[in-house]
Amino acid sequence: MPFFKKEEKQPTPPTEMDQLRHSVIDSGMPPEMEQATLKEVERIAKMGPGSAEHTIGINYIDYLTHLPWNHASEDSLDLQAAKQILDSEHEGLSEIKNRVLEHLAVKILQAGRRYNMLVVDDEKITRKNLKHVLTKEGYAVATAADGLKAMGLLENQVFDVVITDLKMEKVDGMQVLETAKQKNPDTEVIVITGYATVPAAVSAMQKGSYHFLAKPLKLDEIRTTVRNALSRKHTRWENRGPVLCFAGPPGTGKTSLGLSIAKSMHRQYVRISLAGMKDEAQLRGHRRSYVGALPGRIIQEIRRCETNNPVFMLDELDKISQDFKGDPAAALLEVLDPQQNTHFMDHYLDLPFDLSQVMFIATANTVDAIPGALLDRLEVLWLSGYTEQEKVRIAFNHLIPKETEANGLDNQLVSFSRQAMVKIIREYTREAGLRGLQRQIASLCRKIALNQIDHQRTGDELMVTDESVAGFLGPRRYAFEVTQAKDRIGVATGLAWTHTGGEIVFIEATKMRGSNQLILTGSLGTVMKESAQAAMSYIRSHVDTFAIPEAFFEEHDIHIHIPAGAIPKDGTSAGVAIAVALLSVITGLPCRREAAMTGELTLTGRILPVSGIKEKLLAAHRAGVQTVILPAKNVVDLVEIPDDIQQGLNIVPIEEMSQAIGLVLKNNLSKAG
Ligand code: ADP
Repeated sequence: MPFFKKEEKQPTPPTEMDQLRHSVIDSGMPPEMEQATLKEVERIAKMGPGSAEHTIGINYIDYLTHLPWNHASEDSLDLQAAKQILDSEHEGLSEIKNRVLEHLAVKILQAGRRYNMLVVDDEKITRKNLKHVLTKEGYAVATAADGLKAMGLLENQVFDVVITDLKMEKVDGMQVLETAKQKNPDTEVIVITGYATVPAAVSAMQKGSYHFLAKPLKLDEIRTTVRNALSRKHTRWENRGPVLCFAGPPGTGKTSLGLSIAKSMHRQYVRISLAGMKDEAQLRGHRRSYVGALPGRIIQEIRRCETNNPVFMLDELDKISQDFKGDPAAALLEVLDPQQNTHFMDHYLDLPFDLSQVMFIATANTVDAIPGALLDRLEVLWLSGYTEQEKVRIAFNHLIPKETEANGLDNQLVSFSRQAMVKIIREYTREAGLRGLQRQIASLCRKIALNQIDHQRTGDELMVTDESVAGFLGPRRYAFEVTQAKDRIGVATGLAWTHTGGEIVFIEATKMRGSNQLILTGSLGTVMKESAQAAMSYIRSHVDTFAIPEAFFEEHDIHIHIPAGAIPKDGTSAGVAIAVALLSVITGLPCRREAAMTGELTLTGRILPVSGIKEKLLAAHRAGVQTVILPAKNVVDLVEIPDDIQQGLNIVPIEEMSQAIGLVLKNNLSKAG
């Protein structure tokens, strides 16, 4: 017995409860949830209107009815337009843009493809009618008069949907179902059944058929069932691919790229930051029994954007708080995994919501902190940072127009010289991305705005030149640390890879009277400490080669320090640089400061490859390094290095520690600082 009949005439004006019932029915929720919600409405109706529970109940139903259960925005399937939007808003990043365009291309092909149907029935009239209806819907339809013929067709052809009668001579519908699923698990099978075979149809559904249609067949029912079967198949295809995860240093365009993707597909855009999220309830909501309970952020954002297929950015996936209450990976897997996200359970809703149409994109600075189970679902695309030339181009094409407009300046009147921009990049920022640069340009624009108003010069043209930059932005913040300092004994230039991109680090070693102690400071992690010990052992085992006096180690302590002492550092890639710094301090030969190194050192002096080569080379170039020494096995990584960086650096691949020593240690003590 239904709880409410749609057609029933209301003799009196509708009550609050009637309106609630109407809104439940109009909300477009799936039938099972509609039933459950209507039951809840009846429960609330029985409570006194003054009670707190009544109000909570009404708010709950109101929330449910305002969710976009079946409201999706229509995807734009225009590849050229999408490409144009992506290109106009982001410079470069071709790999990522292509990946997005591939995704769209697949959708377009799927949308334009003619679906193949197979109709199996021993009644000629049913075959004929079904073929007629389905052909009119635009599908390609093959027919088979018995199960055996159907098996033959299934052998040679792939069908999207098979519609089969259950009761047939020799080979029945059940066998057709089994063969179809065996040949291609993606084929959806709909069984047709007379009254007598309904229990059999139910058991066919348990074996994987999509639905059953009872005879006599109704045209509308056939059309809708086939369409729904195809749409389920579609969703499964779309979600088979992993979720994209943009990884890279801050300010490289990860978040803004998500916005462009949404625009290019004509989808809504929503974003939540996972940084510091502490409690599963923030994602999944609180149960209604809590006072002031609310849904989690996922459902809140879906409701806000009013469609169930937005582009949904999960920002800073690697920054979920360490002391997360509950299991962050499990909660996020339920959101991201297509097997699970068709029935995402928010505690407040207490009903499953289908998130399978949402296009989730995650962002992260590094992927080390992302739990393995989650990482498996992600396709990580790296954005490593920009070269100086790219930054200048992006500044002129994007950042300056954006910031002049945002600060009320006239784009035609205010301009920047190229040298001014290079100066801002070199002397006021030190970063892989563009955040700092955008901030400096914004600050400059604000100062110009103030100046113009103060001096009533709003109509004047103004060119920011390299001489005027300091007047606006104050004294420079950064110097070229490498080229503007002297070569020193015991200070080697290393290249590191952190979550903010590549960085130059100066590894310092010093010796003092003592008794063979190795002191390590600078918040070094276990792996890095071990690399320092390995470097020391390498040197001690080669005292003859380096002409180190026998008693040196017994009479000295050695201290290795890596500045920026408060920042934890770890990893194997500093091995070579540590060994060079040690050898420099032991032998008294200064290190060439403009030669930067990266590479893992083995006890026998071999050099092993390391990661983050692109980020490290970009950092070396930014800091004015001339020579980069890297493991020979990393030469393969050079293909992704922009030409201007390769040409601006002397890149030397090495296999043995002795090569690094020959390149970096200067055989001339008089030059020591
Ligand atoms: P992230 O999310 O990686 O920290 P954002 O998306 O916030 O970076 O980008 C910072 C700023 O730099 C934004 O204004 C963005 O539009 C701009 N930006 C980043 N990369 C590009 C690019 N390739 N082309 C144009 N603008 C860019």
